[in-house]
Amino acid sequence: MTKWVYTFGDGQAEGRAHMKNLLGGKGANLAEMSSLGVPVPAGFTISTEVCTYYYENGETYPSDLTDQANAALAETERVMGAKFGATDGPLLLVSVRSGARASMPGMMDTVLNLGLNDQTVENLIKLSGDERFCYDSYRRFIQMYSDVVMEVDHEHFEVHLERMKEAKGYTLDTEMTGDDWKALVGLYKEEVQKHLGRSFPEDPHEQLWGAVGAVFGSWMNKRAITYRRLHGIPADWGTAVNVQAMVFGNMGEDCATGVCFTRDPSTGENAYYGEYLVNAQGEDVVAGIRTPQPLTVASKEATQTDLPSLEELMPDLYQQLYDVRVNLETHYKDMQDMEFTIQQNKLWMLQTRTGKRTSAAALRIAVEMVEEGLIDKAEAVRRMDPAQLDQLLHPMLDPKAEKDVLGKGLPASPGAASGQVVFTADEAEAWVKEGKKVILTRVETSPEDIGGMHVAEGILTTRGGMTSHAAVVARGMGTPCVAGAGTLTVNYNAKTLTAGGVVINEGDVITLDGASGEVMRGEVPKIQPELTGNFAKLMEWVDEFRILKVRANAETPLDASTARNFGCQGIGLCRTEHMFFDPQRITHVRQMILASTEDERRAALDKLLPYQRQDFVELFTIMAGLPVTVRLLDPPLHEFLPHTDADMAEVAKAAGVDMDTLKNRASQLHEANPMLGHRGCRLGVTYPEIYEMQARAIFEAAAEVAMKGEEVLPEVMIPLVSVKSEFDRLKEVVDRVVGEVWAKTGAKVDYMVGTMIELPRAALVADKIAEGAEFFSFGTNDLTQTTYGLSRDDAGNFLVPYQEMGVIEVDPFVSIDPDGVGELVSTAAERGRKTRPDIKLGICGEHGGDPASVHFCNGVGLDYVSCSPYRVPIARLAAAQAALGEEGVHSTA
Ligand code: PEP
Ligand code: MG
Repeated sequence: MTKWVYTFGDGQAEGRAHMKNLLGGKGANLAEMSSLGVPVPAGFTISTEVCTYYYENGETYPSDLTDQANAALAETERVMGAKFGATDGPLLLVSVRSGARASMPGMMDTVLNLGLNDQTVENLIKLSGDERFCYDSYRRFIQMYSDVVMEVDHEHFEVHLERMKEAKGYTLDTEMTGDDWKALVGLYKEEVQKHLGRSFPEDPHEQLWGAVGAVFGSWMNKRAITYRRLHGIPADWGTAVNVQAMVFGNMGEDCATGVCFTRDPSTGENAYYGEYLVNAQGEDVVAGIRTPQPLTVASKEATQTDLPSLEELMPDLYQQLYDVRVNLETHYKDMQDMEFTIQQNKLWMLQTRTGKRTSAAALRIAVEMVEEGLIDKAEAVRRMDPAQLDQLLHPMLDPKAEKDVLGKGLPASPGAASGQVVFTADEAEAWVKEGKKVILTRVETSPEDIGGMHVAEGILTTRGGMTSHAAVVARGMGTPCVAGAGTLTVNYNAKTLTAGGVVINEGDVITLDGASGEVMRGEVPKIQPELTGNFAKLMEWVDEFRILKVRANAETPLDASTARNFGCQGIGLCRTEHMFFDPQRITHVRQMILASTEDERRAALDKLLPYQRQDFVELFTIMAGLPVTVRLLDPPLHEFLPHTDADMAEVAKAAGVDMDTLKNRASQLHEANPMLGHRGCRLGVTYPEIYEMQARAIFEAAAEVAMKGEEVLPEVMIPLVSVKSEFDRLKEVVDRVVGEVWAKTGAKVDYMVGTMIELPRAALVADKIAEGAEFFSFGTNDLTQTTYGLSRDDAGNFLVPYQEMGVIEVDPFVSIDPDGVGELVSTAAERGRKTRPDIKLGICGEHGGDPASVHFCNGVGLDYVSCSPYRVPIARLAAAQAALGEEGVHSTA
């Protein structure tokens, strides 16, 4: 018999924390908490296997599920000393929540107060003596159940509430009396009848199974599917359903509810952090309607609020909650995010999970937990998400910059962002597609906004606290966010954001500082963060574990020094053509391209030589002691052709030819498919003087820097080789020039000549190419293009729909395709090593900075990865995690 249902409560549980795959994160943690003796309302978890069964069997349940669920319900009744559906004596009400393996905030639906009907509500009144509370709970239940299970939008109910408040002259919900709520229950039921043509279900068991079905159904709703796509969560994981006894934080002044974090999720400080409300339900804390109160005296002082903290108001219960904090964090050895309810002076823990945190907090917590002896260095390295590390490398506001501050909200997710104001998630997506940068500005966000939130530079809300949807989701995404900026007003109709007398229209630029909560007009200059302190400590540990070296793709002195500051171990790709676009050079480059004879070409190359040499002098100096791989000219020549008549005229003058001759030559160079045309080493083979000039520039620079006493390690790389003889010919050119330079300068430095592997043929004949090539660098951008037969420049149009349709999981230009492109990489590595066992192997395609691809490279045993300067720390971390054998790494894209 398959066990589908697992109970918990009363200091025991059938499940444990490690059973997340079966019980979902929430269920596993409820079981764990219960086993630890933390006060958890009893309940049971219907496993994720039921969800899988449900979808594999035409949305039906296993035949023995009902019996197992009934037995578990009976056990819950026993532990809580109350009966489900009781019209007399203690009454058990339950919550029904989803709980997937990975946390999916706001994605799945929850039903509270389940089990209320016209009879049980009367019983509840007898038990509690509070008619107002009971009918309020009942109407909340009808509203939530109708919305989530029966798909009658909650707005249809809100209208009745608003109307009634207006008729009675109330402004706040708290003014509603018991009779008012009771009357509203009647109106709500009529609303259900009107929409569905049937009445609201009165039978608690029918309610229960309706809610269970809705949770499983919501696994396949659009929001959940989008969330899974964005976070790489497979659809076949399924969700579990948690049915748990309800406890109430809204039964009076001796009741409260709140959320808390064992450490500050924003800064990572080792201080208890949380928010709560007296006489409220959990949803009130995150809904942002009432301002939540601070948990501790310390945070009350820090936020300068007059609202009393829990520590002052209910000191005994605060102490119990504090003990739970210590208990859970010591047990889980990680920062926990907990939900609690105090019902008539009794503390109940409703949930614990690993807390989402800002990147800065993630770093501080990981480092401090090592220092506290709670975890070891390897664990700290494993825990740091490369995407989060990425955020730490992003700009902050320049403290010296002038700011025109419009208002202030909560510092919900750090980082500074500027962009044009848009007021809907759809607009955000549309504007970003047009290449704009946007700040998504909303009163509050909801799960429907997830797509727009994902593409926005920053998120601004005017309502909600640190645990509001916007705050939680933005932190998870690493998007700067200012939440609850109450002094600003959003008007969706007028498409304006007003602050005092200032009106910001749609499309106007604003800047957010997610670290201070400030909202500023216009674009404010930003600076790079300091990479010292905890960052430096973690990176030091990272380097203790990793095997792969990390180099940078860089050609400008700025990129090279940035990369060196980020700890790169050399340059893995210097794209020399990027050095040719400088206004002083481009005319000579064009002259070189459009030359009709070798002499003309050499004349142009002679003018370029001093510039190139100077470039390399700077690079070798910045990279002293580290290898620098210089790739000889690669791109299709048409990229450099003059487009305007003025440019043409300038080149004609420099070359001493007339315009017509030049135009003819330009049209001769036209190619139908330049990416597969006259580019890469094909240029070197047909015009060896180009590579000769470049080799001369490299080695004269090397000689100059070496003679100043610096160590120079040049590696010359031949691009786009497909035939061994292409490489051999060009290596000869390089070696000859090197000999000449040594003879002329009297200098001598070690150097290497190698090739890129960018074409399937090169990968397959790698053993032959390796006879001459001393290193391979996998150019996986072109290798992906040529393996798939996909144009790197045009594929975006259909790769996005392909991902949405599930044809492919990830963009192969972002994360290496292990089965196809990866297979060619490992084949080439193996064949290359067969001929030359000590061949140096690296990767310099964009994949070099993608964590999943770095794992792949570690597995193939490459010597290094090379990536853009800002991704160097990410690649270092990913390399360490790969060496530590961490599984389940996803692409950062
Ligand atoms: C590559 O093809 O992977 C590569 C690094 O070269 P480029 O992107 O310059 O073509
Ligand atoms: Mg390439």
